[in-house]
Order: sequence, then structure tokens, then C-alpha cells
Amino acid sequence: MCQRALDLAIPWTLAELPQTAAITFKNTTPVILTCQVALMVIKIKTTSDCVMMVTMAMNLRGLELGSKPAPGDLALIQGFVNTADLESDRDDLVTPSSLQAWFVRYNLLKPEASISDAEHRTVLEVREAFRALLDHYGQAVNGGVLATLQRVSGQSPLVVVFHSAASALEPTAPGIAGALGRLFAIAYTATVEGTWQRLKVCQNETCRWAFYDHSKNRSGNWCTMAVCGSRLKARAYRQRRAATG
Ligand SMILES: [Zn+2]
Repeated sequence: MCQRALDLAIPWTLAELPQTAAITFKNTTPVILTCQVALMVIKIKTTSDCVMMVTMAMNLRGLELGSKPAPGDLALIQGFVNTADLESDRDDLVTPSSLQAWFVRYNLLKPEASISDAEHRTVLEVREAFRALLDHYGQAVNGGVLATLQRVSGQSPLVVVFHSAASALEPTAPGIAGALGRLFAIAYTATVEGTWQRLKVCQNETCRWAFYDHSKNRSGNWCTMAVCGSRLKARAYRQRRAATG
């Protein structure tokens, strides 16, 4: 019998396996590395009696996000906050052009709109202010965060637009000011509808991923119970053990 290790980067599909291989998923061993990534070690037995150890990276949070999206337009604010993944240092809005691409994709901006460096900085400021604002765990939000949102909101005017069946808050400014105005209108509407308090950031300080709390009593604390929840519970347990000697 031979054995060799094979590290595969995703994406990787079963179709790429050698024709003669059979996968024994019973032998999978997930090893969680960070909030986002787990390694799945799979033993593959081939007809030549060779066992390959395959290591696959899986995006845990990506898998679980499907069960925790915010309803309606509020998902846009969730997605906006999650354009930055603090643990992996990934930032989908890292440059003005990447920011423009994201905003155009979600119909917040017209493709021909240009973005200045100052506007780029403002958008990133607003994103982090939203992240701080979504810390719905009883502590007062830092005054600087509210001041930032108030300042930018003052530059993004909204009007009530009447339709035959309903009315809605809509931005009047073009470009980035209008795009941010749209997000502010969504935040305000969610507050009125009672969904805003359920959009939270993970309590794990190194994670801070935005998720929608679907629990009956609004007691959700973590983006993923399996990762951030277990990790913090284990840490609290170790601290209690250390305190009691
Ligand atoms: Zn988390």
C-alpha cells in the first residue's frame, strides 16, 4: 500500500478525481482553522490499493450564510458590511474601482459613475460605522460612529416618494451620495419594520461578520455557532477552569 498527501486548492470537483478512485467520505476529518476555512481531509482509495490523503479547504461561513441572510433590501447592508472579511483580510472594496464594481453589481450606482479617493474613504468609513452600529448586544454605540453616519447622511438627502399603493424613502443625490442615501433609507425602513435589531455582527471580536438573527427570542450571538460560538465557549470554559484552579 502506498500513501501520499495531496493538497488541493479550491475549486476542486469530484469530476477531477482519477477515474479509478473511490471516495470514502466516512473517513473525512474536518479541521477548523479560522472562522471561514476548514480543512477537510478525505482518504481516497484507488484500485491500485493506493490511498491518497486529499485536503480540501471549505468555506464554512459561506456555507452557513445561506441560512442567515437578512430579508429583502436589508441583505444589501449585510452584504455591504461583509465586503470586508476581517479574519482573512479580504476586502472587496479595497480600491475605488473595486468599490464601483460592487456598487454597480447591486444597482447602487450607474456604470458610468466615477468615484473619487475621498468618496472611497467615506464609503469605507460608513461600512465600518455600520459594523459598529450592528453590535446589538446592549452596549451604547461609540459617539464617533453615530457622528460619522450623521455627517455622511447629511450629504445624502432623501425624499418621500409616493406611489399609488405605498410611499418610500428615496435618495435625491447622484453618484456615491445617492448610493449611500439608499443604504441609509434601507436602515431607516428596517428600524420601522423591526428587522434592524436582528441584523447583527458576530460577537467574536476577531470576526465581526454580519448575520441575520432568525432566533425566536433574538438571542443569536455568532455568525456560526459551529465556529465562533464553539470557540468562544471553549475559551470561557478554559478561563473558568483557570480561575477555579
Ligand atoms: Zn463569527
